Amino acid sequence: MRLSLRPSARALSVFDIDFERLRREGVRAILFDLDRTLGPGKPSALPHRSTVLLEHLLDEGFLVAIVSNRRRRFADFSLDPNLRARVVVRFRAGKPRPHTLRHVISSLGISHEQVIMIGDRWLTDVLAAKMAGTRSIHVRPWKANGTGPDSGREGDARKNG
Ligand SMILES: [Mg+2]
Repeated sequence: MRLSLRPSARALSVFDIDFERLRREGVRAILFDLDRTLGPGKPSALPHRSTVLLEHLLDEGFLVAIVSNRRRRFADFSLDPNLRARVVVRFRAGKPRPHTLRHVISSLGISHEQVIMIGDRWLTDVLAAKMAGTRSIHVRPWKANGTGPDSGREGDARKNG
C-alpha cells in the first residue's frame, strides 16, 4: 500500500486556519513545524504574529508543540518567556520518521486522533503526520524575505506598497 502525501487540509498560512473548527472536530493538540511555517527561514525567535497565535491557542485550551528537524547547535532559537513554560519544543525531530511526534503525543497524554500536525513540507511534515497517524495541514512556506507568510493576501499587500 502506498502512503499518500495528501494532507487532511491545506491553508495559505498558519494564520488562515480555522482552529475553532478543528476543536469541534476533536483536535486537542497542535504540533507545528518551525522553519518557514511559524516564521521565515530559520528564525532565532518567533515573529510577533506567531507568538500571539500560539498564546491565543494556549489560552483557548489547546496543547501546543513545536516539532522541528533543525539541528539546534547550528541555529539557536529562543521562545518568548510567556510561551517557554507552555509549549513543548523538540529539535532534531527526524521527520518524516514519526518517533518524535509519537513521543510528544504520548507525553501530552492524548491519542493521535486528537492531534494535528501543521507544516510547509510534504516530505517531512505531512508524511510524518501520516506515519504517526495524525491529521495534517499543509501551509505554504513563509516567504524568505521575512515579511510574512506566502499567502495571496500578503502578496497583494506587498504589491501595493
Ligand atoms: Mg518547515
